[in-house]
Amino acid sequence: MSVATSYLQTLEKSLYDLISETSTNLPKDVRRAIKKAKEAENAGTRAAMSLSTITNNIVMAEDNVSPICQDTGLPTFKVKTPVGVNQLEIKAAIRNAIEKATEDAKLRPNAVDSLTGKNSGNNLGEGVPVIKFEQWENDYIEVKLILKGGGCENKNAQYSLPCELEGLGRAGRDLDGIRKCILHAVWKAQGQGCSAGFIGVGIGGDRSSSYDLAKEQLFRHLEDTNPIPELAKLEEYIVEKANTLGVGTMGFGGEATLLGCKIGVMHRIPASFFVSIAYNCWAFRRMAVDIDANTGEIKKWHYQDGEKITFRNEEEKAETKSESRVVELKAPITEEQIRELKVGDVVKISGRMYTGRDAIHHHLMTHDAPVDLNGQIIYHCGPVMAKDENGNWTVKAAGPTTSIREEPYQGDIMKKFGIRAVIGKGGMGAKTLKALQEHGGVYLNAIGGAAQYYADCIKSVDGVDFLEFGIPEAMWHLTVEDFTAVVTMDSHGNSLHADIEKSSLEKLAQFAERVF
Ligand code: SF4
Repeated sequence: MSVATSYLQTLEKSLYDLISETSTNLPKDVRRAIKKAKEAENAGTRAAMSLSTITNNIVMAEDNVSPICQDTGLPTFKVKTPVGVNQLEIKAAIRNAIEKATEDAKLRPNAVDSLTGKNSGNNLGEGVPVIKFEQWENDYIEVKLILKGGGCENKNAQYSLPCELEGLGRAGRDLDGIRKCILHAVWKAQGQGCSAGFIGVGIGGDRSSSYDLAKEQLFRHLEDTNPIPELAKLEEYIVEKANTLGVGTMGFGGEATLLGCKIGVMHRIPASFFVSIAYNCWAFRRMAVDIDANTGEIKKWHYQDGEKITFRNEEEKAETKSESRVVELKAPITEEQIRELKVGDVVKISGRMYTGRDAIHHHLMTHDAPVDLNGQIIYHCGPVMAKDENGNWTVKAAGPTTSIREEPYQGDIMKKFGIRAVIGKGGMGAKTLKALQEHGGVYLNAIGGAAQYYADCIKSVDGVDFLEFGIPEAMWHLTVEDFTAVVTMDSHGNSLHADIEKSSLEKLAQFAERVF
């Protein structure tokens, strides 16, 4: 084998290892932040239950070497190369490694043609993966990777100062205005980006460079100190105050809303003043390696300092009385059973459920369903699937996706087909709430990102329809056991999401006075 071939093969293997590690094993600093949140939460609450599920999920993903969350995002690489290193070869190696990692179900096929809706099936497409190169003076290659899913990406926010903010009033072109924008973005995200989250903030630049700067902050070590004293102070302030808003894990209420805040600043032009916020969920998958520029081997993994929290054999806090009633559910479900459920109840589902997300909801508006959905449960989920040696489908990761995207369709679909329950994350809006009341339905919030935990609850894959929509969008027929979720919208007009949004807005308003 020639030296050049050996370098390319080793490089591709190193990049594959980076992708696999990023998708399946949370970095040490992120684990420590989650542990801190877990310790702060009161035993017996829905937030404590969610955090336990999250930490179990982290263990399962590491053990199974499977995706922590089924949404493995838009893979984004930042590469620094010494002068003279061939960047075209690195780009080709990244694309090969991505394709192989997708084939091995370390990544979900996530590249969709924006006009036709067709999934490429291998995570390659126009602009996918994102690869950004920079040259530097060092003699090795640095590759950073972030896998940031859609739920949290959709909660990014950009402010053009000055502006008026709900609950906080005027945000001017100064540090205090920046403070208000960041707090507002955290409040606005509620639980929809799978809180408790992390944020990167970019101040200055234009619309795109400001967002780039915000995302770059997500690569900072969580326990570093900002070299600019005013920003170091603001970072601390934001984490402290955000955690008094009461949004909590998954937006269920509680003590842990934000686990980290990193702020960067750049120059701007006089006419513009942008503050951009990149929101990342608890499944904060970013990693980096240093690669030998001659051999292609990994010389060093980043984020390796300090203690690794394994979350194994954890002593749960002394069981205090749970704040929730636990109800067993099995489809087909009657209207009477549904009307008995109240916001806050925990349900354990066994039996059949069907996945359905954007493409299927859109399709069902004007077509018949391929199966009888009367009394059934729809799960907003785009799983990672693989075929075993016998050609049977197996579930590799299967957490909930953000439900609000189905808001235009959900109520109509439930009524049209007699569906009694939908499961997702982040809650739905007024139109669905009204339909739940009229028709007799519930919305169940599963724990976002707990893809391994839910995959383990799925005991068999009994069929699939609409595979032509792509694996994430197909309708998978699943048999589950003890699939746990929380009733957050019931058939009596109650919505935990609306209540938490209202109460957290009142708390946000306490921070309207100038601080900096
Ligand atoms: S944890 Fe939630 S927000 Fe994050 S990638 Fe998974 S589903 Fe999306």
